[in-house]
Amino acid sequence: MPSRFARQDEVSGPVSKLLFTEQDLRSTVTDLSTPDTLLVMDEYNRAALEDIATSVVVEDTDAIEIERVTRGGGYGRVVAVGGCTALDFGRACARGMDLAVVPTILSHCCISSNRSVIRRGDVYVSEVTTAPRVAMISLPTLEKNHADMSKNWSASGFGDLFSIFAAVAEANWYADKPPQDLFRREATIGEEALTWLESEPYPLDRTGLVRLARFLHEFSVVGHNSIPVGSEHALYYALRQKYAYPRMVATHGKLVSIGTLLILRAWSERYTDFSMYYNVRHTFAKVGLPLSLPDLERMGVFPDHICTACRTLAGPNLLDQLLRTDPSLLTRVFPPSQNETAVELPISSGRLWK
Ligand SMILES: [Zn+2]
Repeated sequence: MPSRFARQDEVSGPVSKLLFTEQDLRSTVTDLSTPDTLLVMDEYNRAALEDIATSVVVEDTDAIEIERVTRGGGYGRVVAVGGCTALDFGRACARGMDLAVVPTILSHCCISSNRSVIRRGDVYVSEVTTAPRVAMISLPTLEKNHADMSKNWSASGFGDLFSIFAAVAEANWYADKPPQDLFRREATIGEEALTWLESEPYPLDRTGLVRLARFLHEFSVVGHNSIPVGSEHALYYALRQKYAYPRMVATHGKLVSIGTLLILRAWSERYTDFSMYYNVRHTFAKVGLPLSLPDLERMGVFPDHICTACRTLAGPNLLDQLLRTDPSLLTRVFPPSQNETAVELPISSGRLWK
């Protein structure tokens, strides 16, 4: 089914298929593997899978390590299993080959992307690598991994998905066009996910997880071709580079959601229309994304980290510009306590922190 996001000139090559199976992870990976398969996985799945085929276990997407594996060769296709690091690594090792990915958590918009985020020295760079032919999800595995609410992987997935609102706001920051319906026009997939999630029980059940997987798949195939990533992702990379946050707590999507809220708040103030900002805030509260200083601190993120990280970004950056001219934006978005007084704003359906 063609995506409502796709324009013919934006998607090169065959679009990846997203498939679901009732099989467990081991059977799923076994069925996808052939004698010339290289299996790329994270440590978490090593015990269950590493005897199936020639395997590499990864913790990072270090370019030197990727180079070592690809130069070693000995494989003709790749199956990458796990979270985004394993999938990114697998995509990078599969250039010019058949690739299948088996995502085990929905924490990221990278499921079926043709790009990998690769660490080159101290810097993480997003590079075009390999689009998977198929993304295969084992439903029992997905359910099991999302039952652990201490990890709350899907919150991270939503944090990444809803970054589309900040990217659209930023892309239109200097544009001389009316903001009416901006998000409905340019962030369709985000609007659809936001509306759906409003009435969806959380934590997500199996049906909800399948729907989230479809959103993340669709966004990962074409999303970033039509919506450029914005300051929220630049802030993520700068934070990740500068501070050693625990990866399981300060996940990609959770860190990205910080910049999303800051940009959206600034956009709302600029156009005195807080409806999208508070819709997103309401959804963040539902799924457990950070909304206050204590929430940030629980992830190990402190306000000065955000300002310092913004300053290290190369080139003009909207977030840095906003925080330099108006540092209190940070406190308006992340108040010192969750119990700040909120008052109704007569001019919009949103609410304003006092
Ligand atoms: Zn992302």
